[in-house]
Amino acid sequence: MSGKMEQNRQQEAGTDWKTPPDVVIVRFGELMLKGRNRHRFIRSVNDQIRNAMIPYPDVTIQEEHGRLYLVLNGTAFSKVAEGLDKVFGIANYSPAWITELDLKAIQESAVRLIEASDPRPSTFKVTVRRANKRFPYDSQEVGREVGGYVLQSVEGLKVDVHSPEMDVRVEIRDRHAYVFTTVIEGNRGYPLGSNGKALLMLSGGIDSPVAGWLGMRRGLEIEAVHFHSYPYTSERAKQKVIELSRILSQYANPFTLHLVSFTEIQTKLKEQCPESILITVMRRIMLRICSKLAERRHASAIVTGENLGQVASQTLASLNVIGRATELPLLRPLITMDKLEIIRHAEQIGTYSTSILPYEDCCTIFLPKSPTTNPSLSRVEQAERKMEEWLEEEMEKAVSSVETMRVSWQDKDKLDEYF
Ligand code: ATP
Ligand code: MG
Repeated sequence: MSGKMEQNRQQEAGTDWKTPPDVVIVRFGELMLKGRNRHRFIRSVNDQIRNAMIPYPDVTIQEEHGRLYLVLNGTAFSKVAEGLDKVFGIANYSPAWITELDLKAIQESAVRLIEASDPRPSTFKVTVRRANKRFPYDSQEVGREVGGYVLQSVEGLKVDVHSPEMDVRVEIRDRHAYVFTTVIEGNRGYPLGSNGKALLMLSGGIDSPVAGWLGMRRGLEIEAVHFHSYPYTSERAKQKVIELSRILSQYANPFTLHLVSFTEIQTKLKEQCPESILITVMRRIMLRICSKLAERRHASAIVTGENLGQVASQTLASLNVIGRATELPLLRPLITMDKLEIIRHAEQIGTYSTSILPYEDCCTIFLPKSPTTNPSLSRVEQAERKMEEWLEEEMEKAVSSVETMRVSWQDKDKLDEYF
């Protein structure tokens, strides 16, 4: 989504109408609604929306003709929009006014809508969709009648069918008509969890939370794994990752985070591994531990925030040698993105301001001065073979002592409650 679109969306979502909308029409992507998956898809998004609406018990949800109608019953649209922006699988949505199936009522609604808008448009057009074929006027007639009435009733307005400032949309359905002007883009993607489960390697940086979010948007259920080297890394570094998880939990509640102690392994590596390939070996061991955890958690892929060329460990040669440490598919949603694009995503998701807080990542503390950008696989494997005996044991230890917590958005005050 472009920055401009996002800005528009936020403006629309915050709009304070004189007459608040009655309902929010939620639409799904046409492509995803084909075939047998349609019902599963809608049910799944419906569940997610229900979750997002828990703080707003007055909102009721109706399903009709492959769409959802969220009847606001007095709840502020901006709140509901905030909730919808946390759900994956929504193509777009519109705040709308419910009108009786009567031409006069529709005309008056259209006028009210224009009069209530601030700033008032100077050009408009009317777009009509008549799903209810029993309505006595066809869509062209409705368009003409509503447009004419608006012109008569509101001063200084002109029709512009090509690029109007306001598109007054009228939808005629079986029981009601809906009048609205705004179509707000949703997150799109697939319903959460509809494409299986993956583990996210979550550091405290900008990239990995974004990678996790993009994975979730593609329908993955995500559990995060974070490696820390306490006491070399501080308690605050850990809290930061928990906070990032809490932000992600808005999109997937609750969000599971596995904290793995990497201290022992890192200390030994520092002593025994040639410095130039230390980072490469460290990453490979992280991946091996993740693969073991993935088996336990029934996850079938690993997601990372790697980005081609960003640092020495992310050159193509490094990615190649690191990636071979696991047989699971390695998903790298950010691999070809520009840093600015990633930052924009992080801002939209809400993780950016937390990601840029200072902290010591377990890798930066043990970072060699001159890591190789072109590690040799055979050299790395040779170095690992020499350490294999203790390595296997330490990896098992790390896996069995993993600290697992479930983080929820509401947990701000009780983040220490592990299970
Ligand atoms: P990020 O912004 O996500 O920290 P980065 O640009 O700092 O990424 P690296 O530090 O090289 O890149 O890490 C590359 C990827 O490895 C991260 O995106 C993350 O997926 C994983 N990773 C790095 N450090 C950790 C850690 N301590 N725990 C879990 N995963 C990690
Ligand atoms: Mg990092």
